[in-house]
Amino acid sequence: MKLFILTFCKWLGFFYLASKITARRPRILCYHGIAVDDEYQFSPGVFMRSSTFARRMALLAKWGYKPVSLDELFQQHQAGQYKKNTLVITIDDGWAAIEQGMLPALKKYGFNATLYLSSYFVINQRPVFKLSCYYLFWKYKRPFALTDSSCLTPHTSLKQLNINDLLPLAAELGSAYEQPILTELAAYFGEDLASWQHSGKLMFLTPEKVTAMAARGLAIELHTHRHKFSELTSDDAVAEIIENRQHINQLTGKNPQHFCYPRGEYQQQQLSLLSNIQIKTATTTENELVSKHNHLLCLPRLVDSDKVSDLEFEAELTGIMTLLRSATSLLKRGG
Ligand SMILES: [Zn+2]
Repeated sequence: MKLFILTFCKWLGFFYLASKITARRPRILCYHGIAVDDEYQFSPGVFMRSSTFARRMALLAKWGYKPVSLDELFQQHQAGQYKKNTLVITIDDGWAAIEQGMLPALKKYGFNATLYLSSYFVINQRPVFKLSCYYLFWKYKRPFALTDSSCLTPHTSLKQLNINDLLPLAAELGSAYEQPILTELAAYFGEDLASWQHSGKLMFLTPEKVTAMAARGLAIELHTHRHKFSELTSDDAVAEIIENRQHINQLTGKNPQHFCYPRGEYQQQQLSLLSNIQIKTATTTENELVSKHNHLLCLPRLVDSDKVSDLEFEAELTGIMTLLRSATSLLKRGG
């Protein structure tokens, strides 16, 4: 139904009209990782197929977009007016497969892009624990039966664990248990963790790759060290960014000044923490075009996903979805 309405709107020329009306509202696109296997089915918002990403970049090129840096966006804001058709490409987290799955398409069109890097799993080269557990339980759809020799057996009376038993137990035991637990879990389900390490499945970029990608022009910016922010005290939240900044500085030789809230979450009183440490812009996962009224530390983005069709992507990019959302909220308020 949605696709039918959008096709009709496009045919009537509303897409074109919307793009003219919203031309001075910057688009900040949000991407995450690239699937090396079936992860796009497990979590299409986090792991896109590289073919989908390549198609999106081809569309941006076809529509005449020339993606700019976050510094350029910041300067436009300071100058008092955003330029027409400003677009920024951002990639969250630092998943390993973005190197082969995104960089070639970005390079092909000469597109600027920014990677918001969480540094913990770059430094600690192992699969991301929580997500890997969710993935394995999603894929094999059965509980994990503990053996007598399991590292978990001394810590629980349960004989079988599902994801909701496993994660709290692992959190209680601490991060030193994460890799031993994952090794057992993968072996139990018949997955080969060594091949994950090799293909980059559910892994982050190595430090060397981050350095090399930065040298090739990818801007590396802040996303906290451990992917935590809104839930922390002020001191801990700032410490997370400072640690992240130090790692990025070591890896790239540059001083990052833009930030992305982990999971898009923040508390209003945390904005001043960011200005105190000279953060110029911060982005959320609120799905919207940027407006001149947006605070620079609460910039919305258009969150792309493997589930989104090219027509829906186009509808977001033209701004027709923004206009429809405003109309709906006006109607609701009116009613
Ligand atoms: Zn993230």
